Amino acid sequence: MTQEVKYDVVVVGSGAGGMLSAIRCHDLGLKTLLIEKSDRYGGTSAVSGGAIWIPNNPDAGPGDSEEKALEYLVACTEGQVPQAKLRRYLQVAPQMLSYLAGLGLEYYADPLTSYPDYYPHHSGAMPYGRTMLVRPMDDGGVLGDEFFRLRESYPEFKLLDKISIDLVEGGALLYRSKGWIRVLLGLLWRYHADRSWRRQTHRDRRLTIGNALVGRLRKAMLVRGIPLLLKTRLTRILVEGGRVAGVSASRDGRPVTISATRGVVLASGGFEQSQELRERFLEQRTEARWSATPRDNNVGDGLLAALEIGADTAFMNEAWWAPTIAVPSRPAPNTTRNQALFFERGLPHSMAINRLGKRFVNEICSYHQFGQAMLRDNAATGANLPCWFIFDAQYRQKYPLGSLLPGSVASDSKLPKDWFDNFLYRADSLAELAARIGVAGDSLVETTRRFNGFAAAGVDEDFARGGNVYGQFFGDPAHAPNKVLGAIDKPPFYAVRIDLGDLGTKGGPRTDEDARVLGRDSRPIPGLFAVGNVAGSVMGGAYPGAGATLGSAMTFAYVAAEKLAQRDEAGQLTQPCELDARIA
Ligand code: FAD
Repeated sequence: MTQEVKYDVVVVGSGAGGMLSAIRCHDLGLKTLLIEKSDRYGGTSAVSGGAIWIPNNPDAGPGDSEEKALEYLVACTEGQVPQAKLRRYLQVAPQMLSYLAGLGLEYYADPLTSYPDYYPHHSGAMPYGRTMLVRPMDDGGVLGDEFFRLRESYPEFKLLDKISIDLVEGGALLYRSKGWIRVLLGLLWRYHADRSWRRQTHRDRRLTIGNALVGRLRKAMLVRGIPLLLKTRLTRILVEGGRVAGVSASRDGRPVTISATRGVVLASGGFEQSQELRERFLEQRTEARWSATPRDNNVGDGLLAALEIGADTAFMNEAWWAPTIAVPSRPAPNTTRNQALFFERGLPHSMAINRLGKRFVNEICSYHQFGQAMLRDNAATGANLPCWFIFDAQYRQKYPLGSLLPGSVASDSKLPKDWFDNFLYRADSLAELAARIGVAGDSLVETTRRFNGFAAAGVDEDFARGGNVYGQFFGDPAHAPNKVLGAIDKPPFYAVRIDLGDLGTKGGPRTDEDARVLGRDSRPIPGLFAVGNVAGSVMGGAYPGAGATLGSAMTFAYVAAEKLAQRDEAGQLTQPCELDARIA
């Protein structure tokens, strides 16, 4: 028998967008329910870096302004996104940020740790300040049993696969910058001293990055008593009397009808985990397993449900692209998990080549631009997707690659034998390496010779690697003359395959500046909102800066809640949209 439940608002999906929308709706006086199909809450947001891109925030310094950020966003989005929507983002994002502070979520930016914007050549770009990092949540234990239902961070964001680190600690350990030993000892000591906690679980009580973000949001929900139903999957959006009136869902396999008197917020993520939808909507063939997002959940349920009731779409062939590598999973034999290469591409003694043995990009552009370059190169040569990351013994000794630790910590002899000629290719000469990976040897040798010349001179004449403020943010400060360029000349030589992965797709129902889903006639579908990766992105085909995906998901989550709770002068709730006979 179908079970029936009634709320003002139903939010679908427990990523940062969904959770924030639910909390804001509750705070504005609406009875709100959050449903999540998985048995874990947090979605991709929980495994993310947790950074948000908030122009004109109080830490950005006097150089930033709403107008400057608008100029930048207009340039990045190349006229694909209405200015009213860009402006709404810029106006509401700082308000959303102070609301987060009230929920106990502390974000900060400073010149040392805040990333430069991703298109430093566009006017209005900032060298730092818009990307904000989240402070750790030291006592995850306050979540009680909900701690164990929080989707866990990926091992590559942990020390020794178990100790939580944040992005600043990770940077200190990677670059061995001043004070790194203190950071290391502090992390080890705190984890090991926490014996009472470790009797319950290997998981660190201290939550960092995406886990800190989602942990704090979950705590805010618990304090307010906002219900979260796990294992509850949206199957259909219900319409009645000219408006969206709720959802049909499957809860633990049983059908349930949930009425929503004011509306439904779709926050169910992209469709990156659906091979079928990738092939239907994305321009070139890419594999779902190349995505760095958690397996299985984000398969476009929200998108399909919205299409069924007449939603228009936007940016269906776009994703937040990121190069990924398929690292063998130790606990589960014969399986791999794709990990994003965020910073490794800027470390010396390495380069990326296509299958013709040629470089095709400034390796240390943003991960999104790197992905777009793979697509372009593949369209031109047919020899990308996959391409290769090439490095030498110096890189291997000093630097990590995803969860492959530097040789100084995990030498080749300590790696599982089946990693070689499978995940990690190794040879004593470049020609031999090329033969192992199916690339023309003379071409790889020539490309490397030229690259090594650039490394010696400190200037990349072909792709200007490290030639702008973004590129210079990465690299090894101890390496000269250019911290991102080092010769590939010490055997053995190595190669790892690079797939075109993503951090989620970003095409979906087209929304207006109030996050309302628009029908094919461009009028809002009454009562239906979409935020985060389920929606056609406010960023169009661009990725303006680190944190732009969570920043926009959470900002429009906040906007949707405001619209759902809009009131007249007498304080009475008013309809967020005219009723529409089309969907009666
Ligand atoms: P999600 O967080 O994926 O949440 C969607 C939820 O909806 C999931 O829990 C899913 O199970 C649920 N769901 C799906 N279908 C249904 C259904 N039918 N019924 C009910 N529930 C459903 N972005 C940044 O801005 N900053 C970063 O620092 C950052 N770092 C990243 C690092 C990594 C390794 C990765 C992979 C991504 C990173 N990203 C980052 C990208 C960012 O995490 C995602 O773009 C963002 O989390 C998407 O949020 P969302 O709320 O749209 O979706």
